[in-house]
Amino acid sequence: MKIEDLLSVAHTYGSPVYVYDADKISSQYQRLTAAFSSVPHLRINYAMKALSNISVLKLMKKLGAGLDTVSIQEVQLGLRAGFAPQQIIFTPNGVSLDEIEEAMHLGVQLNIDNLSVLEQFGSKHPEVPVCIRINPHVMAGGNSNISVGHIDSKFGISIHQIPHILRIVENTKMHINGIHIHTGSDILDIDVFLYAAEILFEMAKNFKDLQFIDFGSGFKVPYKEGDIQTNIEELGERLSARFLAFCQEYGRDLTLAFEPGKFLVSQAGYFLVKVNVVKQTTSTVFAGVDSGFNHLIRPMFYGATHFIENISNPEGRKRFYSVVGYVCETDTFASNRQIAEITEGDILCFHNAGAYCYTMSSNYNSRLRPAEVLWYNGEAHLIRRAETFDDLVRGQIEIEI
Ligand SMILES: *Cc1c(COP(=O)(O)O)cnc(C)c1O
Repeated sequence: MKIEDLLSVAHTYGSPVYVYDADKISSQYQRLTAAFSSVPHLRINYAMKALSNISVLKLMKKLGAGLDTVSIQEVQLGLRAGFAPQQIIFTPNGVSLDEIEEAMHLGVQLNIDNLSVLEQFGSKHPEVPVCIRINPHVMAGGNSNISVGHIDSKFGISIHQIPHILRIVENTKMHINGIHIHTGSDILDIDVFLYAAEILFEMAKNFKDLQFIDFGSGFKVPYKEGDIQTNIEELGERLSARFLAFCQEYGRDLTLAFEPGKFLVSQAGYFLVKVNVVKQTTSTVFAGVDSGFNHLIRPMFYGATHFIENISNPEGRKRFYSVVGYVCETDTFASNRQIAEITEGDILCFHNAGAYCYTMSSNYNSRLRPAEVLWYNGEAHLIRRAETFDDLVRGQIEIEI
């Protein structure tokens, strides 16, 4: 998207506002499928927790993606967006057997990541095929909040518990149609990924009726210039070759599945805010914007560095700023950041605002969530209106006091 397009969205819909570029989502999708074009059966299940607006889901469906879901509500949203149940995989963690059975009744592919649930489910519904989520204990990524494959992670069934898994499968006569890993959301090193894949291939040999192997996600995208990103093309080349060789050994053409969230939508998103105040203190210059961690929590929660551009004055002289929110708590988006000179009323644009931004927003400070706009076919489409005061009180029950 061009700066003029972003400014026109801010002008039309006000600020703050989230904007998603459909072309960027498509090109990321195409880049991933192209990298694995030598694999006859490829499945990209979009991890919708990254950005779950129904219009974005419809775009994913149009591109040919399936969905990776982590709650029964996400399953319901996916069905609402028009996905067939078979296009949806349900990969929850720590949910009740009831919720898994609810998803079963909706007909989606189940992915189980816990031995006791596997045993209970297999005993009750041996005829329903399930996928097993394995924890290969491969450490990927740098942030302990988003690294999920290490030894003490709550995700997946440990690779060391294979004998126990096999015993449950044998005792219950349940059907295992897929195996899955998701090593974390920040893969820096392709070798680590391929190492985890080898563990999964070894594991796969224990099951005779597999239809797919799901390698999860964790593809890293650049947040600023010079950032390392996963080399998808190299990964595609190396993993495809290994996967096809494994299928030969296994004796059947399996589907290779991925479930990227961030890779598909992070860079497609822009978050536009207005500068309310510029405040000089003894040590810095604050730019206070009409938003806070109620709308974008990643800098505070993960220490994420979102590139911030002053699109009202893109060619201006660069100065150092601390960009802060309006929440009554310390909510620093960026400190000591060089940004083109800011005047009150300017529109700042946060980049990489597609993944885990709107979906993690809240009403903290009784603020309203912003609107979402999809830039599709060269024009802006409002895909969620900004909240109003009515949204804040809806659902509250006032009692006589
Ligand atoms: C969150 C999640 C993903 C997506 O991770 P990204 O880093 O956004 O690609 C994939 N699979 C599972 C099981 C997840 O929980």
